[in-house]
Amino acid sequence: MFGRPVTLFKIFRFEVKLDISWLFLAALITWSLARGLFPEYYKGLPSAAYWWMGVAGAVGLFLSIVIHELTHSLVARFYGISMKGITLFIFGGVAQMEDDPPNPKAEFIMAIVGPLSSCLIGIFSFLLYTFGKKSGWPVTINGVLTYLTWLNLVLAVFNLIPAFPLDGGRVLRSALWSWKKDIRWATGIAAQIGSGFGILLIIMGVVYIMSGNFVGGLWWFLIGLFLRSTAQLSYQQLLARNLFNTKKVNELMVKNPVTVPRPISLEEFVREYVYKHHFQMYPVLSFGKLAGCISIKQVASIPREDWAVSTVGAVALPCNEDTIVGPEEDANKALAIMNRTGNSRLLVVKGDQLEGIIALKDMLNLLSLKIELNDLGKNHGYEPQSKL
Ligand SMILES: [Zn+2]
Repeated sequence: MFGRPVTLFKIFRFEVKLDISWLFLAALITWSLARGLFPEYYKGLPSAAYWWMGVAGAVGLFLSIVIHELTHSLVARFYGISMKGITLFIFGGVAQMEDDPPNPKAEFIMAIVGPLSSCLIGIFSFLLYTFGKKSGWPVTINGVLTYLTWLNLVLAVFNLIPAFPLDGGRVLRSALWSWKKDIRWATGIAAQIGSGFGILLIIMGVVYIMSGNFVGGLWWFLIGLFLRSTAQLSYQQLLARNLFNTKKVNELMVKNPVTVPRPISLEEFVREYVYKHHFQMYPVLSFGKLAGCISIKQVASIPREDWAVSTVGAVALPCNEDTIVGPEEDANKALAIMNRTGNSRLLVVKGDQLEGIIALKDMLNLLSLKIELNDLGKNHGYEPQSKL
């Protein structure tokens, strides 16, 4: 949310990553536990004890969320869905799925194991608490265990609210999906409920803030905002995947793209190509065959005074799997490469022949036209609009 997540560790071959925003959350939780919750319920302890309890509570929360997300990821792997990893950010965790689940049953099991695991962690914490109480463990440990019991039960219940993309929303989607056999319709309904629930939380947050509970209100407000945008985003992603599944790269590419000859100088390249066409990357041809790629970044790395003497051929780099895609590939594959690399244009290459260029802008244009016309089911011919 605020930047690139940092990888913390790997477990079962999943990367657990931490968004910087989570550090704010951890600090906020530690503080509110140490200064608010624990002193209220366990009176008369030294201040340092409350801080230790606060830190233990925050670490417990972190582990609870990682285990919750991990169970989602393990079931997803069982059903052959590739997972990017688990990222913890300000509102908890997200197990990043790259695909939709293959069938309603897989979706149901994948969704339900999350709240189920939270429930189990809650019960486990409670059993440990009863054991600790009998064995005379200090009140600090029992206090943290009580907190973890409640926390996990709340996590389980909150996640079961049928608002997509919360787990409960996924359960609802799987039910609707198996009923009408239409994942798009099911996602549409579940996402609308999710989006509506998001608005409800936003309103609740505003009411809280106006009645003086600023931190609590801001919290609900942000969670609502987040839920609403992820609900809409996941629906759009589903539409995109459905649409581009049925398309090949060569149906969406622009043929005869602008190419750059090898012998010209960088100065000429910048003047005649970069400032005219405004693209980030250009294919370089030599005797009609693809000889490499040249990007603005590469030119920028050459000192300005050398532009007149350096040639495009000397600066261009070989194209690689981050910049090219085959014409017969699924358009979804092009989208996945763009997603992974951040490149918004890919060369469409067969052997050493450049066949065209596929641009994210064209793909998104097609998608938004289709959404506007409510015409995602059918397939019509489509001419890419960017003239290269
Ligand atoms: Zn979950």
